[in-house]
Amino acid sequence: MENIKHYTNGEVTIVWKPDLCQHAAFCGKELPAVFKPKERPWIDANGAPTEKIIEQVKRCPSGALSYFLN
Ligand code: SF4
Repeated sequence: MENIKHYTNGEVTIVWKPDLCQHAAFCGKELPAVFKPKERPWIDANGAPTEKIIEQVKRCPSGALSYFLN
């Protein structure tokens, strides 16, 4: 079964596929209020406005991040 994790702020849900993640923390450098590689859970969906989150999710180079609107 594919490994998939969900993180939501009630408006948008971030979908993360750890098997595809390159762990380069690209997202963590660009939007550290949401993507915190050193913390657990490492994604805080309440750390930035929904639009910012969506923008950043689209920039993930590996396809590990996607999203859907709730
Ligand atoms: S940008 Fe994508 S591939 Fe890179 S660390 Fe974040 S989730 Fe993983």
